[in-house]
Parts: sequence; C-alpha cells; structure tokens
Amino acid sequence: MYRTHHCGELRIEQVGQTVTLSGWVQKSRDKGFMMWTDLRDRYGITQLIFSEEKSDAALFELARSLGREFVIQVSGKVIERTSKNPNIPTGDIEIEVSELKVLNPAKLPPFTIEEDTDGGDDLRMKYRYLDLRRGSVQNNIIFRSQLSLEVRKYLSGEGFIEVETPNLIKSTPEGARDFIVPSRMNPGQFYALPQSPQTFKQILMISGLDKYFQIVKCFRDEDLRADRQPEFTQIDCEMSFVTQEDILNTFEGLTKHVFKTLKGIGLPDFPRMYYDDALRLYGSDKPDLRFGMQFTELNDLAKDKGFIVFDSAELVVGIVAEGQAEYTRKQIDQLTDWVKRPQIGARGLVYVKYNQDGSFKSSVGKFFDDEALKAWAEKMGAKPGDLMLILAGETDKTRKQLNELRLEMGRRMGLMKEGDFKPLWVLDFPLLEWDEEAERFHAMHHPFTSPKKEDIPRMLNGDFQTMKSLRADAYDLVINGAEIGGGSIRIHDRELQAKNFTLLGFTDEEAENQFGFLMGAFEYGAPPHGGIAFGFDRLCAVMNGQSSIRDFIAFPKNNQGRDMMIDAPAAVDKEQLDELKLDLQHIEEEIE
Ligand code: ASP
Repeated sequence: MYRTHHCGELRIEQVGQTVTLSGWVQKSRDKGFMMWTDLRDRYGITQLIFSEEKSDAALFELARSLGREFVIQVSGKVIERTSKNPNIPTGDIEIEVSELKVLNPAKLPPFTIEEDTDGGDDLRMKYRYLDLRRGSVQNNIIFRSQLSLEVRKYLSGEGFIEVETPNLIKSTPEGARDFIVPSRMNPGQFYALPQSPQTFKQILMISGLDKYFQIVKCFRDEDLRADRQPEFTQIDCEMSFVTQEDILNTFEGLTKHVFKTLKGIGLPDFPRMYYDDALRLYGSDKPDLRFGMQFTELNDLAKDKGFIVFDSAELVVGIVAEGQAEYTRKQIDQLTDWVKRPQIGARGLVYVKYNQDGSFKSSVGKFFDDEALKAWAEKMGAKPGDLMLILAGETDKTRKQLNELRLEMGRRMGLMKEGDFKPLWVLDFPLLEWDEEAERFHAMHHPFTSPKKEDIPRMLNGDFQTMKSLRADAYDLVINGAEIGGGSIRIHDRELQAKNFTLLGFTDEEAENQFGFLMGAFEYGAPPHGGIAFGFDRLCAVMNGQSSIRDFIAFPKNNQGRDMMIDAPAAVDKEQLDELKLDLQHIEEEIE
C-alpha cells in the first residue's frame, strides 16, 4: 500500500496515529540535527520531521540526500507541531518519520514548483508536467473538470442529449482557416477539421433529436493571442422548435447554474442590449459592464465652432472619468501618447477638466468658452471634479478607439473589480458585413444564420444597400467584456439558404458542392431550430477572473501554434508522405 492518507488530509484529530504518505519533495529545511521536509501531492502539503536524535542513522542520512521533486513514501506517527502554520489546513501537525523509501529520484527541476514560479512561458510549456504540479495550475484544471460536470448535469436535466460529431469532415466556414488532413485512401483529397460542429448539429435537428449538446474540440487556423488557441473547446448546443427567447432563457439558466454551484454567486437576470446600442454606447459589441462610463455623442455641441479637428470629423464622442479632474499635465500627456500608439491609432485626445470650483480647463479652451463646455458637461453628465475625455474622427474607428480608452480608464481607476461578474446578452447583430477590400459580404456570424423574420422579404428582394442593413436573429453572451458565447436562429429553408450563399459570393455550383447535403436535408422536413456555443476555455478563465485561457488548458500551444513539450508540429517520414501521394518535391523544397 502506497498511502493511507493523502497530503492534504491529516489534522490535529489524527495525532498519535501511524500513517503512510506518498508524494513529491517540495523542499527541505536542514538544521543539521533536525530536518523538515514538505511533502506534496494534488491534495496539499504535509510536513515531515526527521531528527538525528530520534531517527535511525541510515534513515536520517537518506532523508538528507533527498532532492526537490524526489518521489518518496514515508510512514510515521502524526504529532502536534510546536510551531503551527495557520496558512495550510495540515499546519497543526507533522509526521515523525520512521520509514522512508525513495520511489523515484528526480533531476533538479528547471524552475521552482510553487504558486509563483520563476519559469518563463516557454520553459513552463516545455516542462508542462512540472508546471502542472503547481497548485495554482492544478486548481485551474480541476475547476475545468468540475465545470464540464456541472454543464453536463444541467443540460441533461433540461433534456439535452450529448452526441459526438466527427472530426474528419469537410470545411464548415466559421470565419477562420481550416486545418486540413490528407486522405491516404483518396489521394489528392483532404478532410478539414471542424471549426465547429455547426452543420452536424443542424442535421441532428432535422433528424428529430430535438435538443443536442456536446463539449467538443474545435479547430481554427488563426493567428494566436492570449485568449485564442488553434484547438479549443466549445459547449455546443442546438434546439428545435425554439425562438431566440427560448435559447436565451435556457443558456442564461446554464450560466446562472454554473456560477451558483462553482462560485457560490447568484447572478441576477442578464440585461439585454441591441448590437447598435452596444456600439453607440460602448464602441464595442462586447461591453464590460462592471463600470459605466457610457459614450456621449457631442456632434451637435462640438461641430461648426471653428475647431477644424471636430469640424472635419464624422463623430465627436466622449466619456467622463469620475473624480479625475486632478489629472496632472503629465498624466494627460501620457494618456494622449497612449491613445496615439499605433495599436489604438487616435490622432489626438481632447480633455476637459471640470474643476471643483465650477471652472473648466481644456485643451480646446480657445474654441469653446466655459459656457460651451458647461453644455458639454451637462450632456455628458459630468460634475465638478470630473474629467471629460473626447475623441473625434471617422465613426467606426473613433468608437473603437474610445472603447480602448474607456477600458484603460476603467483599469487605471480600479473599476474592474475582482469577483464582480456582469453578464449581458447582445442581440440583433447585422446579418452581413461588407468587406471593403475584398469587395464582398461576409456572414457576421456564419452563413447558416437566419435574418430576422421581418427582414426576410427585404433580403429576398432588396438592393445592395438593403443587404447592409439586414439584421440577424443572432446573439452573444458577454461577461466582463469577454465574448463567452454566440449563436443564432438558423435558416431552415432551401430557398433562403441558397439566397444567403449567393449574397456571400458563392456560385450555385460552389454552394451545392460544399453544402448540398444541408440544403438537401432542408427539403426533407427541417424543423425551425437554433442554437449557441459557449467558449468553454474562456468561460473557465472568466469565471476565475483571468484573461488568458492557456492556464485552463492542460496542454496548450504557444503563439506560434507549437506544442513545446512534444515539439509539434514536426516533419514526417518520407514513407508517410509517399503513402499520402502528396506533391513531395514541393514539400521537400519548402522544408529546405
Ligand atoms: N457554430 C457557432 C460558433 O462556433 C455557434 C452557433 O452558432 O451555435 O460560433
């Protein structure tokens, strides 16, 4: 028997018992005649004590030779500690070791395996098995497991059934590049890995499965960021005979359930916001509602007063930073530099300080007297002591820039509080997005999304401008400024689906080749249906107040899409390539 207890288990009540523990040596303190060693496993840390006086000489010698991360087994008596450690649950006791066995020695690890590590990202990923021994990372992985369990419990309780869909499929456009897999049995042909199970889950509705879910891997070949991975996990769902309202209610219920069971937080009903309003008030389709600072548009007060920057702008828009009128010249300059960085791209920043004495100090004082600035303050809801920050320019760009500035001010002012969760639904996204460069429409969500019922006649008969204004029955769940989920009511009729493909630039033949199976299925009794998918990794991160999804994935890839531990991607044998009948010469040239 390797152990009678684990390393997080023993308390003062067990004093006097003889126990056996196994685990890793976290660290030792050697006082010459006495030695204390922290023994660690997934459950916690237990202190071991060895003494020259009480321990057997050989045992004491062996104990002193233990290195960090050695795997050992010990037996001994639980005794009360003389100096207790209130910071850990086992801090009242220690084990007076009478038997010690080294189960496996260990090389010195390349970084410290403690809550805070000195290991850089790449090193941690290369030795991910060591990184995963750290309590903080382990807790994330354990949280993930609990979250998937709660999701399954809730959805099964609501009558959903989990169905697995294939990984070797044909491209499903979700707006990213596909990973492709050559087929040996069909030389020259390729599978695509699913960007999502979208078409399959719709087919399952046509099959009458009624309520489907799956916690499923999806693959998208995109440029990577902290919150993106080439393979990631979705909680993917689809329902038949539902309206948008039914889907929002079901998944609001799921979200409340996981917050309640895993965080002990009762979320109030989620507010809803139209996409257009989200852009107008926050400059973003995923506003962080942990703080206010809504935009105020100032065109009517600011334009045509002789200030060329405003006069030539499509939009003049500002926010109020409450109580920040004390900002110094230096802080304002720094903020101005911040918005002018290429990542933000503003041409400048206009500020108006509303001083406590009711006077104003502004960078545009030459053009606007105190009376004019007072009118701004009134419109923006600013009080004495507040700082107004204003940007101007082309509408979409300026909104995006002010969104960044709002978030930055939120950070600087400490308004994004830990443990505060502000979910909302964003509704009625546009159906199509015009791509100026490519001169074509893209589906804002994906090509299977239905326009709003009242927009269908306009879609079937309208002109180019009409197409730009079509709204979709599409919705996103946003929490604290992160997009957690998105979905839509689907098209379930062949004619409308074909029309959508045409708008998206598919010829009839291309549409038939790629999606003939789905349009064909629509002709055999497709029920009205809709669904949603949550980003599972992101939900894990957001629920734990973190922005990077990487630490919630056991084996993530780095920014170059590499797995540093197994060193993938990698070259393959010539025989493998031969079997696949790929254009070898071309690939060999590429490799060289
Ligand atoms: N397939 C969609 C996505 O991956 C989700 C959905 O529409 O249900 O974003």
